[in-house]
Amino acid sequence: RQQEYRVLRDKPSVSKDGQEFSLQMNAGLLVDLPQLDESGAEGIGLFRTELQFMVAETFPRAEAQETLYRSILEAAGRKPVTFRSLDIGGDKVLPYFRNTPHEENPALGWRAIRLSLDRPGLFRTQIRALLKASNDRVLRVMLPMVTDVAEIQQARTIINREVHHLSRFGHGLPTRLQLGAMLEVPALLFDLDALMRSVDFVSIGSNDLFQFLTATDRGNSQIANRFEPICRPFLKALKSVADHAEKHRTPLTLCGELAGKPLSALALAALGVRHLSMSAASIGPVKAALVATDLKGLSEVLIAAIENDRDPTDMQAIVRAYADEH
Ligand code: PEP
Ligand code: MG
Repeated sequence: RQQEYRVLRDKPSVSKDGQEFSLQMNAGLLVDLPQLDESGAEGIGLFRTELQFMVAETFPRAEAQETLYRSILEAAGRKPVTFRSLDIGGDKVLPYFRNTPHEENPALGWRAIRLSLDRPGLFRTQIRALLKASNDRVLRVMLPMVTDVAEIQQARTIINREVHHLSRFGHGLPTRLQLGAMLEVPALLFDLDALMRSVDFVSIGSNDLFQFLTATDRGNSQIANRFEPICRPFLKALKSVADHAEKHRTPLTLCGELAGKPLSALALAALGVRHLSMSAASIGPVKAALVATDLKGLSEVLIAAIENDRDPTDMQAIVRAYADEH
């Protein structure tokens, strides 16, 4: 198997019927970077910036943030990196962050983009560090846990102000800035046209989206695996996202755990999600599954099963049967 993955490493991700995909990796620390070339990932589709904050004893200073981002970009070379703005709160706690209110339901609480917009000093510092570190490169930033497209506009206003500030003081700037949103909160599923128009790209955070869609705490081992993500309601939601992304020509990625499981990755690809970001170790197995599969055939079977909702079919079994048969 390892041998097979090594052979595949430098080959493009193209399905048996000729559809192209891009497989990227998730990362959060500089020590993850050697895996970029080892795995054959085409870039970093999700860089979790909160990791630097979680391993620190106090808020990392602006210089430390800039240094990390610069090192990441240098280590990535020509491969693209998508930095996620701070996703703290919920399951990601900073012990040194005081004066935070006690929360009955932290997963639904003061976290991620909500916190960044309420603590603009924190957000501005991070954005400035990212802008400085990306001089002469493309900067890709994505916002976690967006609930309302207005939050994207508010973040964009803050980001633009930082861009002006830096240019006024003669700092080098990114050649391009691409702003994306993570789709993790189900409310956005009902405002997809507005979402697709508001951003340069969208990334589905399937861990949180599935948690909220099924009201199932992802951190509660009693129930975390109770429902299978490859199920009709979730696939319907994902298909709708993929269709809207295509209609607006908005690049779409999925960066949750689902992307790293070969059968799930096939289902996602069959629904039209062409960019998948996963742990480095999953790239080989997912690529092996993609290159062996006629995705057009799988799309037909899977979409028919999604649409025929008189039949309580096991979606996972359909994907498995198709993969085994072909
Ligand atoms: C997700 O929710 O799917 C995601 C990628 O973000 P995280 O797992 O860091 O919450
Ligand atoms: Mg998430």
